[in-house]
Amino acid sequence: MASRTLRIGLIPGDGIGREVIPAGRRVLEALPSSLNLKFSFVDLDAGFDTFKQTGVALPEKTVETLKKECDGALFGAVSSPTTATKGYSSPIVALRKRLDLYANVRPVKSVRTAKSPVDLVIVRENTEDLYVKEEKTYEGPNGKVAEAIKRISEKASFRIAAMAGEIALRRQRVRDSGVDSIHSKPLVTITHKSNVLSQTDGLFRETARRALAQSQYQSVGVEEQIVDSMVYKLFRQPSAYDVIVAPNLYGDILSDGAAALVGSLGLVPSANVGDGFAIGEPCHGSAPDIQGQGIANPIATLRSVGLMLEFLGEEQAAAKIYAVVDGNLEDGKLLSPDMGGSAKTDEVVEDILRRL
Ligand code: ATP
Ligand code: MG
Repeated sequence: MASRTLRIGLIPGDGIGREVIPAGRRVLEALPSSLNLKFSFVDLDAGFDTFKQTGVALPEKTVETLKKECDGALFGAVSSPTTATKGYSSPIVALRKRLDLYANVRPVKSVRTAKSPVDLVIVRENTEDLYVKEEKTYEGPNGKVAEAIKRISEKASFRIAAMAGEIALRRQRVRDSGVDSIHSKPLVTITHKSNVLSQTDGLFRETARRALAQSQYQSVGVEEQIVDSMVYKLFRQPSAYDVIVAPNLYGDILSDGAAALVGSLGLVPSANVGDGFAIGEPCHGSAPDIQGQGIANPIATLRSVGLMLEFLGEEQAAAKIYAVVDGNLEDGKLLSPDMGGSAKTDEVVEDILRRL
């Protein structure tokens, strides 16, 4: 079989981004040759340090290179300035817009032996809802009033729900290929508050239902849940969820909440996904408190590498990475300090490379 070469943009950004993104590269380079996959890499700048040096947080060259040359990318983390800094805005937010990455995908997985095991993924719509940022303040008869637009479209709701359906099917294939899981069947839960917001969330719910009723998702179970009761159940019984699809605001809140269900931020990956492009990104920030010590947990990044590969159509490679990462965690002998261990970043990576 001819081998496929994928070109990957590496954007380490700031702080521990520079320590974990190289780990991601090492794992890609170490994938077994039987997968017939090769990688080439291009180093790209973005972040607060880049801003301090050049006056721009997201250089045009980074955007152009990603667009013209790359199949996918890995993004580390960016420090946010503590006070508003003139001219600075988040490069990852800008990248999502420039590359039309309309979904944010965040899997959260615990070890199987956890008291309350979790293995779910939140698929968050990332272009509309209250985050269209159309706000205004005016003087009402009894003082100031502020308003924000919540915009939900059929188009965005349909494509995010269809993506959730695809992810549900793919997670099942990855499970069938031997990655351990608490689930045996694919399930999508649609999140909304249409009992109160009958038009906006009503449209989301109804459109998501229609998207998931398509014949290709026949084998996927579909449920729905009001967001507040979902938060309750997510914390009481997280094993009830496989794929959660949500509009922007609820997805944002649920994502951080779900991340708290597993021991450390250092375990939680994400991907920013559009049609034909994906950027893997660990959920954590630049962690200035531990930067430079060589103790950052690389697992969020390695799982983000797997996630990026899934969206590039390389499920077998992704499954391989998930399985070896799970192996490291279940074994529990070489864990980084955030997990209660004493292993350095490199020692965790080397354990994972051995398992590969
Ligand atoms: P930023 O402004 O860049 O988000 P932050 O100070 O909010 O920085 P985070 O990166 O969000 O820091 O991390 C929050 C806490 O979790 C910190 O104490 C950090 O050390 C810890 N943490 C985050 N990621 C990791 C990781 N990969 N390994 C170990 N600890 C981590
Ligand atoms: Mg942070």
